[in-house]
Amino acid sequence: MLDDFITEQPIVYKTLINSVKNGKYSHAYLIETNGYSKSFDFSLAFAKFLFCPNSYSNKSKCINCSQCLNIDKNEFIELKIIEPEGQWIKKSQLEELQQDFSKKSVVGNKKIYIINGAEKLNVSSSNSLLKFLEEPEDGIIAILITENKYNLLDTIISRCQVLSLNKNKNLLCENTLVNIASEFYNNKNDIDLFVSDENNKFKLEKIIEFVKYYEENKVKTLVYINKLWSEYFTEKEDLYNAFTSILLLYKDSLNDKLNKNIEIYNDYLDVLKYISNKNTINSLISKINVIIDLREKIKFNINPNMLMDKLIIELEGCE
Ligand SMILES: [Zn+2]
Repeated sequence: MLDDFITEQPIVYKTLINSVKNGKYSHAYLIETNGYSKSFDFSLAFAKFLFCPNSYSNKSKCINCSQCLNIDKNEFIELKIIEPEGQWIKKSQLEELQQDFSKKSVVGNKKIYIINGAEKLNVSSSNSLLKFLEEPEDGIIAILITENKYNLLDTIISRCQVLSLNKNKNLLCENTLVNIASEFYNNKNDIDLFVSDENNKFKLEKIIEFVKYYEENKVKTLVYINKLWSEYFTEKEDLYNAFTSILLLYKDSLNDKLNKNIEIYNDYLDVLKYISNKNTINSLISKINVIIDLREKIKFNINPNMLMDKLIIELEGCE
């Protein structure tokens, strides 16, 4: 239930409780996960809170409410959850949703859909969603969850109330390697193991060196990829994690540029300054998108040399 999130997401929690209690909920919410591991649970709890006729946010208080009960059993027909099918959220999934929601509510007066992984909307499904959002029907509420809102159409974002979740608080600290490990692993043992491995510290230095080299030398980096990169990152998992580290580095550079809090690279502020000075806000956003897209390709066994060539060339396109 929503009350479970009071301490971890105090600001968003308060915003939602107050808006619903004042009867002023939005037709569409965009939940930015910021790496918060329970983003989906949070969204589900929010949906439940919206559905519950007693507006109960605490399970123990809500008895004899068929809505809460059926949501728990995953049997509530007025709640639809959409997740990527394969690499994308497809247009047909949105069409099916629209068809389902064109029928009148059987129970209560609300219908809610949650789109988990909204950054995976492609051009045609984005357009379907946009049309759906543009003609808000009474009682239909959208909850979009995304780890990267910059992958969504501006026109979609502008129709949503954006809620930015906090990263898992207990994991945040001043040590970059610990922060990065917490992006890869959920339990403390794995994180400790990762941090205590000297090799990971070394790899992080190589990743930062690579990005700095690229920012200084741009497309010339192509010639030095072997020396700068290829001998250190060979395994698929290694590559994927390295791309996540690059992604977080650019995200923090964007945070620096926007004067927002630094989330991961707290002990590399000089590097963040250097990158943010070399880039405009737009080029940082484009670079973040390039890295996310290419990181997906690692899952599909792209050749590592081709991957790095593509990275440099596509980053160059963002300048
Ligand atoms: Zn209830």
